[in-house]
Order: sequence, then C-alpha cells, then structure tokens
Amino acid sequence: MATKYKTKILSLLKRSHLLSIAEIHKKVPQADYSTIFRNVNQLVKDGEIKKVVLDKDVVVYELNDEQKSHDHFICKCCGLVEVLKFNRSTLTKGQKFIVSDVLVKGECQKCSDKKI
Ligand SMILES: [Zn+2]
Ligand SMILES: [Zn+2]
Repeated sequence: MATKYKTKILSLLKRSHLLSIAEIHKKVPQADYSTIFRNVNQLVKDGEIKKVVLDKDVVVYELNDEQKSHDHFICKCCGLVEVLKFNRSTLTKGQKFIVSDVLVKGECQKCSDKKI
C-alpha cells in the first residue's frame, strides 16, 4: 500500500525536476494529503529524494541522484527555478569542506529584460 505511493512519487519526480507535496498530491488525487506527506518524508529519510527549500515557506522535492547533483537558482520575481552547476573546486583554496545544496537567488533573464 505505502510502497505503491512511493513508487508513484518517484516516477513523478523522474519526469519533473522539482515538485511540492501539493503538486504531487494533485497528480495522485486518490491518496490523502497526509499519506503523500508521510510517503515523501519517508523517501527523504531513505535518501531516495531530497528536500529543497526555495524560500521560507516554499519547500519542494527532487530525486537524490549523486551523479546528477546540482545547485539551484531561483528568480525572486517570478519564482523560476533553474539548475546551476557549480565547480566546487573553485570555491575553496585547499580547505576541505563539503558544499551542498547551494541556492542562488536573483533575477532570471526574462525578469531583468522586462525592466529595461
Ligand atoms: Zn523571473
Ligand atoms: Zn534540482
């Protein structure tokens, strides 16, 4: 029962980059919101997906794929999210530290074009 929804959530996230719990619920209307919530949190615990906090009350989820690990850019005007690839080795001068989940905020091209 629970596994059925987990598989469904994973397949939805394979097709979409980022989804909120509400968006997942919209695509699986036969499940309770709380069921989706529970399954999503379980998947996070299992390391299958990860939580991306875009803003203080905007939380979305994506697949946790080490190979395709990336960072995010969010436009503060329209909320557009783009994938960023940071070269982490340029961020340090020999110190060893792990940077994870970098989120850059700014204006996307569309929004900054509008202001000219
Ligand atoms: Zn924008
Ligand atoms: Zn992402």
